[in-house]
Amino acid sequence: MEDRPPQTSGLGRGWQKLFALTLPTKILLGLLLGGVLGSVLNATAGAEGSEAHERLTWWANEVARPIGDVFLRLLFMVVVPLVFSSLVLGAAGLGGSHHLGRVGVRAMLWFMLTSALAAVLGVLLAVVVQPGVSLSPEIVNEEMVRYGSAAIEKVETAQQGTGFSLRTFTNIIPENVVGSAGDNKKALGVILFALLIGVAVGGMPRGRTRAFRDALETFYEACVKILGFAMRLAPVGVFGLIFAVTATLGFEVLSALATYVATAIAGLLFYQFVILPILAKFFGGVSPWTFLVKSRALMITAFSTSSSNATLPTTIRTAEENFGVPREVAGFSLPLGATMNMNGTAMFMCITVLFLAQVDGVEISFANLMLIVVLAMMVAVGAAGVPGGGLPLMTIILSQVGVRPELIALIIGTDRIVDMTRTVPNISSDLICSLWLARKEKSAAVSSTPDRHP
Ligand code: ASP
Repeated sequence: MEDRPPQTSGLGRGWQKLFALTLPTKILLGLLLGGVLGSVLNATAGAEGSEAHERLTWWANEVARPIGDVFLRLLFMVVVPLVFSSLVLGAAGLGGSHHLGRVGVRAMLWFMLTSALAAVLGVLLAVVVQPGVSLSPEIVNEEMVRYGSAAIEKVETAQQGTGFSLRTFTNIIPENVVGSAGDNKKALGVILFALLIGVAVGGMPRGRTRAFRDALETFYEACVKILGFAMRLAPVGVFGLIFAVTATLGFEVLSALATYVATAIAGLLFYQFVILPILAKFFGGVSPWTFLVKSRALMITAFSTSSSNATLPTTIRTAEENFGVPREVAGFSLPLGATMNMNGTAMFMCITVLFLAQVDGVEISFANLMLIVVLAMMVAVGAAGVPGGGLPLMTIILSQVGVRPELIALIIGTDRIVDMTRTVPNISSDLICSLWLARKEKSAAVSSTPDRHP
């Protein structure tokens, strides 16, 4: 009997093609579908309080969000184990505190300089565009009524946790490392603990630590496998997350604050798609196009989750698998970057503080502009890598330059969309940092190899 190829209907072929798409393309499709569907339904559902609007909010919160949360929680679930194992292996693998110190100093330098660059660009943009000058007092009042109590909560959170003093630094050392592991805002504690374990293990005789390293390596790989499962759910998860955001986004608020939102998003997009690719070329040695194409799944994950922490597992995997960054460099620098390096957040804080100063009619002197840049760089380090993690700390900058901190009520309603946009440069800058460190380590290794042909 003749062997005929199975007949497939047009519809069947369509499905086959859909399944044959690469994962990043499927994730992108999820993002676009979720965004378009959510926005269209939001625009057609009528005013807040109408039956259609209520129904849409129910679907967004009770169906789409839980679907997105499955994906988000799977990512969050592997963060602490992955940070711990990758940092211990990274610090131990870099061996010798001298070597580790060199990579650490370079990483800190990168975090500081790129955050400063982003902050200065943010200040320039806000000074030129002046997004706050034409905002009507009615809108200010409306937003203060709507989000006033949420704003006060954020101001109080900032007051409890901060104020720069010696305590800010002593608090980094965890009293109870298991407690730190359970609190996203205390991620620095886990990082410090893992770093110290890594340094200690790196200093012990290799034979004594082999079993520990092998076990941790297996554990790390198991976490990466779980991440692989989670990423397979990403197209649907991203759809759910984006749908929930766009379907419930206050488009009225968005249009009232259109100049501010557009300024912030334009600045962040410029930084992500112009400045960072240039840095990737000069420091990371990859062409701008390659950088953007190979990190697209990473960018979409950051955008849809709005969280550097949730994106961290994907960042590590992208650096290793797509860009060939050695395990110990990626494992060491990326968890640090996800927690401490937030270029997008620093830029956002500068734009927002100046916007609110313009709304409040507060004159900002040149010295205060400098102060805003420095404070934005510093408080962005302390911001938790979770959705809205930067908001409470920004109120510290507002009070330092004489702007009423409770004015952040004005931006709470629109923050999610800006947050999604700023999380992308937050993690992209970490990725370039790891590319740069890997390059530097490679050239150091080459130059320290003894010449075999004297
Ligand atoms: N969502 C940001 C992040 O996770 C932090 C922030 O700026 O709110 O990187």
